[in-house]
Amino acid sequence: MNRPGKIVCVGRNYLEHARELGNEVPAEPLLFLKPPSAVIAAGAPIVLPPQSRQVEHEGEIGVIIGRTLRHADEQAARAAIGAIVAVNDVTARDLQKSDGQWTRAKGFDSFCPVGEPAAVPRDLDTLEVVTRVNGVERQRGTAARMAFAIPRLLAYISGVMTLEPGDLVATGTPAGVGPLAPGDTVEVEVTGLSRVSNPVVRA
Ligand code: MG
Repeated sequence: MNRPGKIVCVGRNYLEHARELGNEVPAEPLLFLKPPSAVIAAGAPIVLPPQSRQVEHEGEIGVIIGRTLRHADEQAARAAIGAIVAVNDVTARDLQKSDGQWTRAKGFDSFCPVGEPAAVPRDLDTLEVVTRVNGVERQRGTAARMAFAIPRLLAYISGVMTLEPGDLVATGTPAGVGPLAPGDTVEVEVTGLSRVSNPVVRA
């Protein structure tokens, strides 16, 4: 896929995942950015950086923006979804905690595997994301379980920054995040739609 102009991510959008890291779901969506330089395609290696001892997978449903959104309502936001992709919001969990903000933890090269774009289903609540490490399921969640539904997220983000065609929104990860080790293969699938599988290597 083409490299997105920006990658807007949502934290703590599933109750069970917020709790597993000792957090609550926030009153409003929690936003952060990943750099476009982190994007890799299926098959490219996720490179574990020497600065971290705890790199984890976060399988997520990704939305590719199809048309410009600025101060949009939920209906316009829904209509602007261009495609669905599988995303792995790879995270250096130790640095996320020690830095106090997330730019470094989320921003290493190769920390954003993205699958091929797929058509948008009529019912967004049917979207499901599954993460497997070495073929073993680690995470499973559906959009119906999100704290903030996808149109709400896009409308909220568009009130902060203009969403442009090609931008990627990663909508949060369900429970079950866990560490990656050299030699692992991690796969994120938006069931039946988009898939991204990557080997894990040491830098
Ligand atoms: Mg995430």
